[in-house]
Amino acid sequence: MARARKRPVARPSRDAPARPAVRGVSTATTPVELREDPHAHIVCRSCGRIQRIELTELDRHFLTELASRRPAGWMVDGISFSLTGACQRCREGPSA
Ligand SMILES: [Zn+2]
Repeated sequence: MARARKRPVARPSRDAPARPAVRGVSTATTPVELREDPHAHIVCRSCGRIQRIELTELDRHFLTELASRRPAGWMVDGISFSLTGACQRCREGPSA
């Protein structure tokens, strides 16, 4: 049997927001220490416009659960879900 591996210590980077880590539930050996709440956005493939998408508590729950499926040895410090597509202006023109 393999020896238990020491957990890596998460150190916030210089530009990390000053807020306590949010710990999620995980069965993996490495931690989930989120520096911000899970969030989602949509990105226009044509012009690059980004718009935030509001999440429900259930959405946040599922996104946090997804972190438990990370590959072995990885730690998770952020959850950002992206949709891609075309914004209204790119689909309909500047008058939209
Ligand atoms: Zn666009």
